[in-house]
Amino acid sequence: MTEISYRIPQQRVLRTALPGPRSQELAVRRKAAVAAGVGSTAPVYTADADGGVIVDVDGNALIDLAAGIAVTSVGASHPKVIAAIKDQAERFTHTCFMVAPYEGYIEVAEQLAALTPGDHEKRSVLFNSGAEAVENAIKVARLATGRPAVVAFDHAYHGRTNLTMALTAKSMPYKQNFGPFAPEVYRMPMSYPFRDGGQDGASAAREAITRIEKQIGATSVAAIIIEPIQGEGGFIVPAPGFLPALADWARANGVVFIADEVQTGFARTGDWFACAHEGVVPDIITMAKGIAGGMPLSAITGRADLLDAVHPGGLGGTYGGNPVACAAALAAIDAIREHDLNARARRIGEIALTRFRALAQQVPAIGEVRGRGAMLALEFVRPGGTEPDAALTAAIAARCLEQGVLTLTCGTFGNVIRLLPPLVIGEDLLNEALDVLCTAIGDLTA
Ligand SMILES: *Cc1c(COP(=O)(O)O)cnc(C)c1O
Repeated sequence: MTEISYRIPQQRVLRTALPGPRSQELAVRRKAAVAAGVGSTAPVYTADADGGVIVDVDGNALIDLAAGIAVTSVGASHPKVIAAIKDQAERFTHTCFMVAPYEGYIEVAEQLAALTPGDHEKRSVLFNSGAEAVENAIKVARLATGRPAVVAFDHAYHGRTNLTMALTAKSMPYKQNFGPFAPEVYRMPMSYPFRDGGQDGASAAREAITRIEKQIGATSVAAIIIEPIQGEGGFIVPAPGFLPALADWARANGVVFIADEVQTGFARTGDWFACAHEGVVPDIITMAKGIAGGMPLSAITGRADLLDAVHPGGLGGTYGGNPVACAAALAAIDAIREHDLNARARRIGEIALTRFRALAQQVPAIGEVRGRGAMLALEFVRPGGTEPDAALTAAIAARCLEQGVLTLTCGTFGNVIRLLPPLVIGEDLLNEALDVLCTAIGDLTA
């Protein structure tokens, strides 16, 4: 394991109130040119980013606990990733793998076969976004099984394209008035220990399976798609046994089990993939976010018999597996190994969960502390029950931002603060950010 060196100082610096004057100027230009439908968590505009720090155009340095939504796990400018991008860009930026193929695409597919769970024969296809990977996983499952139905879960998030909106559970802001949606998508109850009375995984799975069998019929189901830990839906960690029971049922019934690891993948949870924590081997796995050090790349990797069932030309896309993105992915995978970022993710989890659990003893508004590795969450409620407190959650995130710490919120009820720091963040900087967060929670619940 090699030490991590940083290009810019790993310090929180507040030179102006946020947003500063340059960011305010950009906000005015943005309003006149960028569609209002695109939101931003932070009102500041980025000039530079590295390690655990984002520097804005006014010279403020924020501690980054978001990593661009679990993307820049190796940092936003890892030297290996930058060198690989430069080297590839100097040779060729694009030929289209469907026109004049190149080695980088094959190398990424070889790496994915080696890194994803299971030692069966695998094939991969590369795309640009997580939603595109999900769409294609469903295409493959339907073609290979000849069946129409797809099962998704409460609180699920799978993207913003038409099919992935249908798979996504939450209406506002993702789906509201964007329909009609793709048909043959069925929603089943999710194991959510904090909100289902602590139902054990096996019995939660039995409930979902009974509904699938009674409402759809097993022989009509092409695929079950599930996030091993739900992301946008609230960092929901299902009860142990839930995922394995669903995967076993899928296998027994000829249903393709798709793990959507777009957010959980690539060392985020302390393993290469979150499925591995329970020994689950998906038939197809979708990946994006942390895969390529910030470059747009996504992938599906799955059983060779499923992927190879598709006729030549049935899968692809102009930019899918872009050579610069592939070079970045190979460098990012190398960096994850070099710095043993799985171990760092587990360490980040230990540090944060220890502090959060101690704080939860004193703060009754913390309903639950949960997560795995560097995918961590605090769910806020009205003290004494489980009624969500979205206003408190938003106030805590806003206070952190004011103090130069960038966090994200999530959850069906908008009452979860989630932490997704770059895995290369230093421990001192992480602890400083946690000081700010814990103080904000203490102050706003006092
Ligand atoms: C972010 C996300 C997606 C969509 O990825 P995009 O690259 O934004 O299209 C799909 N599934 C999960 C679990 C995600 O977190």
